[in-house]
Amino acid sequence: MGDELLKQANELIKAGDKQQAKRILTELVKQEPNNEGAWFWLSTCLSDRAQIRYCLHRVLEINPDNERVKRTLGLLERPSEPINKQTLPVQSTPSEPSSVVVPIGAEKPQDARPPEVIEQTASPDHGSPMIYCHKCNATNLPTAEKCNQCGANLLPGTSIGERLKGIGVLFLAAILIIPIMYLCSTAANAAGESTGTRMALLVLGPVFALIFIGGGLAVAFRKSKLYEKYQRRAQRHIELNPQQAINDFTQAISSTPEKSRDFKLTLLKQRASVYEKEGMFRQAQQDYQQALALATDLYKISPEKTRLKFLKERANIMEKLSQEDEADREYLNYGYLAEKALPEKKVAMGIEEGFKQGINESKRQEYQNKRKAILEKGKFKALGYCRKCKAVVELDYKMQCVKNAKHGQPKLVRFALPHEVEIVKQQLSTK
Ligand SMILES: [Zn+2]
Ligand SMILES: [Zn+2]
Repeated sequence: MGDELLKQANELIKAGDKQQAKRILTELVKQEPNNEGAWFWLSTCLSDRAQIRYCLHRVLEINPDNERVKRTLGLLERPSEPINKQTLPVQSTPSEPSSVVVPIGAEKPQDARPPEVIEQTASPDHGSPMIYCHKCNATNLPTAEKCNQCGANLLPGTSIGERLKGIGVLFLAAILIIPIMYLCSTAANAAGESTGTRMALLVLGPVFALIFIGGGLAVAFRKSKLYEKYQRRAQRHIELNPQQAINDFTQAISSTPEKSRDFKLTLLKQRASVYEKEGMFRQAQQDYQQALALATDLYKISPEKTRLKFLKERANIMEKLSQEDEADREYLNYGYLAEKALPEKKVAMGIEEGFKQGINESKRQEYQNKRKAILEKGKFKALGYCRKCKAVVELDYKMQCVKNAKHGQPKLVRFALPHEVEIVKQQLSTK
């Protein structure tokens, strides 16, 4: 029956009736989710870039060697590239879909979903893979941005309500900041501060107010990025239609540009957690693996100041991947470096400084508690070179020489598993 429908659709495409062909092919891919030809010809009936991309991804999932489709996808996934008839696969003749199949052993695109994801997507017991238009109830591909019947926007940006909330908060702040700064200047006056300070406080009120108003306007007119829209729709679907959420996260991931890779990292983790909830653990693992590789890359390329958070990210993901020892080691490394990056303790001067120091102290506590918990498991030992003992010594959870806490900061700290202790000691003592 599928062949018959495919033939019928091809006749319609030849005759120029793409609308009717689209209807037939949409039905066909629902019934036969692995019909390569149906997905391919469906893509030629569409004008929406995301929909075309989805169809072609499906073709590649079914037949990873389809080189022309691969090339077309490459062009489609560069958002700046205009779609023209030449780059679309329409050029091959409708009667022989196999003519586009050129076997080549090239790599799959990184964002292509693993085949089983699609299988799950298309299976009826996992919710419909199609998205229904809220206006005319027409069936649309899960990647659709506009309804193929009535043109309604299936992928709205930030809602008016959300925008109003953002604007409201910022405008309120703008209104409040002037009297607050005025009170501050009065207080400064009472405390005998110089006229300069009081004037500065008075001037700062309106300056801040202007900044807040500017922020409010930016919130009001900011255009949502495509991947943010998909993320938003995905998050709305997590409870009611997890399959749609997965599809939307997938779209968001493949439309995230290279420069927003840390956003992509977040998306991968979010999709992984939906997979987990759905019991699709293999897919979840794949996402976490990809997220881990991304966190590693981001750690390597990020500047000193911001890179530490990616170590923590790595530790969190390793935990998700049940790599307990690796995760513990990464937490230890992260905690050690993060604590070292905190400013030295000193006697508090003003209120502001005291406040900052309070925050730093609570962070220090947090790192030490985590380290204590890991070291108490008894697997890892903290080792370092003690300048006083002139030897490699064991360190306690505060990173102090166990022989004498007053021996000062050890250098060359390393965390070692039992079988690594001897090697690490040797390495550290020869440095
Ligand atoms: Zn509609
Ligand atoms: Zn010592």
